Amino acid sequence: MTTLTIVNPSDETVISEIEAFDVEQTDAAIERAVTAQKLWAAWTPADRAAALRRFAAAVEADVENLALLEVRNSGHPIGNARGEAAHVAQVLQYYSAAPERLIGKQIPVAGGLDVTFLEPIGVVGVITPWNFPMTIASWGFAPALAAGNAVVLKPAEWTPLTSLRLAELGLQSGLPEGLFQVLPGEGRVAGDRLVTHPEVRKIVFTGSTLTGRSIMAKAAAQVKHVTLELGGKSANIVFADSDLEKAAATAPYAVFDNSGQDCCARTRLLVERSAYDRFMELLEPAVKRFVVGDPADSATEMGPLVSKPHFDKVASYVPDDTDVAFRGSAPSGPGFWFPPTVLTPRSETDRTVVDEIFGPVVAVLPFDDEADAIRLANSSAYGLSGSIWTQSLDRALRVSRAVEAGTLSVNSHSSVRYTAPFGGVKQSGLGRELGPDAPLSFTETKNVFIAIGAQ
Ligand code: ADP
Repeated sequence: MTTLTIVNPSDETVISEIEAFDVEQTDAAIERAVTAQKLWAAWTPADRAAALRRFAAAVEADVENLALLEVRNSGHPIGNARGEAAHVAQVLQYYSAAPERLIGKQIPVAGGLDVTFLEPIGVVGVITPWNFPMTIASWGFAPALAAGNAVVLKPAEWTPLTSLRLAELGLQSGLPEGLFQVLPGEGRVAGDRLVTHPEVRKIVFTGSTLTGRSIMAKAAAQVKHVTLELGGKSANIVFADSDLEKAAATAPYAVFDNSGQDCCARTRLLVERSAYDRFMELLEPAVKRFVVGDPADSATEMGPLVSKPHFDKVASYVPDDTDVAFRGSAPSGPGFWFPPTVLTPRSETDRTVVDEIFGPVVAVLPFDDEADAIRLANSSAYGLSGSIWTQSLDRALRVSRAVEAGTLSVNSHSSVRYTAPFGGVKQSGLGRELGPDAPLSFTETKNVFIAIGAQ
C-alpha cells in the first residue's frame, strides 16, 4: 500500500499519512461515478440546483475549518485561505443557477423542428495542483456537476486535505453517493488511470505544462475532452505615464502572493526605461515591507513554499552569483521559507526570465517603448495572464489587444473572478474555466430533427 505523507510546510511536522488510491480503487470509484451520474442526470433541474445551493451553504458554514486545514497543509496565510474557502462557496452558488439555464436552441429548418440538447458528458476527471487546492478544484467540479456530470477529483499528492473535506460536505448536502468523489493518490497511478479509463470522458487538468502535454497526448488515444490550465510567465508592464507609486506598491502582491506559487504570478516586471530608476526606488521598500511569516497570523502576507523538493527547485534559480537587486525577509528555522526576491537579469534569455520558477522571484527588465514592451511581453512560450499600467486609455486598449494572454488586467492585478472566463493561450493551456459559459464545456450538444408531416 502506498501512502501520502502530508507535511506542514511552516514547521515540517507530519500532519498525517493518507492511503493513496491504486488503480483498482480508482476503477471502482469511476464505476460508482458512472452509476451516480445517471441518477443525477435524472433529477429535475430544480432539484439539482437546490442540491448545489445546499452544497454552497455547507461550504460557507465550513469556511473557517477549511481555511485552517489549508493553513496547515499548504502554508497559505489565514486571510488568503479564508478567501479561498469562501470562493468555493461562491463558485458553487454561481453555478447552482446553471441546471435550470442550460438552454438549447431551436433552429429554423425546412420540414420539421430542429432542436439542440445540452447533454452531460458523463464522468469528468478533475486533476488539481497543490498551489490552490480548493479553489482550482471548484472551478472544475462546480460547473461539471451543474451540467449533470459526475466528478472524480484527484488532488495533488502534497495537498489533499481540503478537497477530501469538500467531498464530505458534498455528501452531507445530499449529492448522490459517488457523484463527487475525491481520490487522494499519485499522479502516475490514480491520475493516469483517470486519463486512460474509457468511462472518464473529460479531463480537467491544472498543473505543469510538461504533465499537461502528456495528458493531452494520452487523452488523444480515446478522443477524450481536455481542458488544460498550465504554466505561466506573465508580464507586469509598467509604462512611464502610469501611477508609478501605485504600480510599485502593488507589484509585490502580483508576484509574491501565495509565495509566487501561482500560475498567474507576474514574474516578469517590464518597466519603461525612462521610469526604471524611479520605479526601482519605489519597489524596494514595498518588497521589504512584505510580511512573510507564520501563516496562522492574520497579519501575514506570505507563508512558506509548499515542500522541500519545491524549495530546492526555487532555490536553484537563485545561486550566489545571481543578479539580486534586493530581497525581503523570511523566517529562519524549520519550514520551507524563501524571501521575496527581485532579480535584474542581464539578458532577456536568462533562465529566470524564461522559466516558470513558481516561487517568490521576479525578474525586472527595462523596455524602450510600447512596441518593445509588447515584443518582450510576447517573447514567452506561455500566455496566461498579465498587467498593464498606464494612464492612457488608448495605450491600455492597444496593449491589451496586442499581448498574447488569456487574462489581463489594466491598472490592477486582478486575475480570477468567477464571473469571468479564465485561461491561457500558447503553452499556458487550452479552453477556459469559470464565467457564464463554463457549464457548456461540460456538455455535448445533441441535435435532434423532428419531421413534421404534411396535413
Ligand atoms: P507540479 O505542478 O508539481 O509540477 P504536476 O503538473 O505534475 O506537478 O501535477 C499536477 C497534478 O497532476 C497533480 O495532481 C499530480 O498528481 C498530477 N499528475 C502528475 N503526473 C500525472 C500523470 N502522468 N497523469 C495524470 N496526472 C498526473
